Amino acid sequence: MDQAMIEFQSVTKQYQGGQPAVDNLSLSIAKGSITVFVGPSGCGKTTSLRMINRMVEPTSGTITVAGKDVTSVPAPELRRSIGYVMQQAGLLPHRSVLDNIATVPRLDGVPKSQARKRAEELLDVVGLAPPLGQRYPSQLSGGQQQRVGVARALAADPPVLLMDEPFSAVDPVVRDELQQELLRLQKDLAKTIVFVTHDIDEATTLGDKVAVFAVGGRLAQYATPEEILRAPANDFVASFVGRDRGFRHLGFTPSDGVTIHQVPTIVRGPSVSSSDPSAAGGWQLVVDGAMRPLGWSIPGSETEMIPGGSLFRPGDSLRRALDAALSSPSGLGVAVDAEGRVRGVIRGGEVLALIEEARQLRQAAL
Ligand code: ADP
Ligand code: MG
Repeated sequence: MDQAMIEFQSVTKQYQGGQPAVDNLSLSIAKGSITVFVGPSGCGKTTSLRMINRMVEPTSGTITVAGKDVTSVPAPELRRSIGYVMQQAGLLPHRSVLDNIATVPRLDGVPKSQARKRAEELLDVVGLAPPLGQRYPSQLSGGQQQRVGVARALAADPPVLLMDEPFSAVDPVVRDELQQELLRLQKDLAKTIVFVTHDIDEATTLGDKVAVFAVGGRLAQYATPEEILRAPANDFVASFVGRDRGFRHLGFTPSDGVTIHQVPTIVRGPSVSSSDPSAAGGWQLVVDGAMRPLGWSIPGSETEMIPGGSLFRPGDSLRRALDAALSSPSGLGVAVDAEGRVRGVIRGGEVLALIEEARQLRQAAL
C-alpha cells in the first residue's frame, strides 16, 4: 500500500450548539497524491481541510501528518510545513507580487536576496512572466492572482499543500488552464495535495482519489475517480455525480479496441505525392515530410486544405477517440503515434459501437 502522509482517525468537529460539521471521519491520504474533497456547500469540506493544519481543532478524534499527531506539533511549525491556498488568493495588496511570494521564507528568516531569488524562480514555475513580479495584486487578472497564491504556498517548499476551492472564482477557460497547470506541476513536485471543490468535474480531473462528502459532514465515498463514476456507493453519490456520468466515465475507459484504418495521404513539402483518395470518401489527409498531420484536403480539390480536429494518441481514452472523430471535418479521427506521425484514422461509428458495448458491460456489472 502507498505510504500514508495524512490520516484522519474518527475525527468529529462540532461547532457550538449545532449538528456535527464533520462526523466521524476516517480517511488515509497517500504521500505524493492529489486527494480531492468534493460535495455540496456546507458538508464540512473546509472544516476537514483546516483541521489538518490546526486552523480548526477537532472535537474528538486524531489527525496525523507524516505519522505525527498534529496536536503534538506547535501550530506555527506545523503551518510552515503545510502550504495553504484559498479561493481569493489572499495576497497582501500593498506588496509587490515578488514580496507576496517571499512572505513565508522571510518570516522564516531567509535573507532578503535569497528569498527574492526563490520568488523569481517560483514565478516561472507557476507560468508567470518575470515583469509581473513587480506588479501589485490588483494589477493582475483573477487567474494570475491564483497562480501567485500557488507560488506563495510553494515558497517554503512544504511537503503538504492544502487548496480550498482555489479555482472556483475564475472563468471556466482559465480554470481549465489552472487545472492542467497544477497537474503538470505535480508531476515534478510530487507534493501531498488536499484539494477542496464543489465541482465533480474538477474533482475527477485532478484527484488520484476523491472523497465525496454528504450533508452532515459524513464521508459518502472515498475512491478513485473512475470508481466513483462507474460505481457510486449510494443514491447520494449517484445524484451528485449526475445522470450523465456514463459519458464522463468514458474519460477513463481505455480505447484498446478501436480499429485504426489506412488513410489516403498527400505529402506536402519538397515533393508532393498523393495516394488514391476513394478509400475515405474523397477526403485525403495532408501530411508533412515526417508524416505529421497538417489538415484535410477537401474532396475534389487538391489545393484546398482545412485544419483537422483533435488527434488520437496511443493510450488515449474512448472519450478522446470520440472527440477526435467528431471534431474532424472528414468524420475520420486522425490517429498518431507517440512521435506525432500518422498511423491511420478511426471511424466515429465504430467508436460509438465500442462506447455502447462498454455501457452495456457496465450496466451488467452494477
Ligand atoms: P463546506 O466547506 O463543505 O462548504 P464548511 O466546513 O465550511 O463546509 O462548513 C460545515 C458546516 O459547519 C456548515 O454547516 C457551516 O455552517 C458550519 N460552520 C463552519 N464554520 C463554522 C464556524 N466557525 N462556526 C460555526 N459553524 C461553522
Ligand atoms: Mg468550504
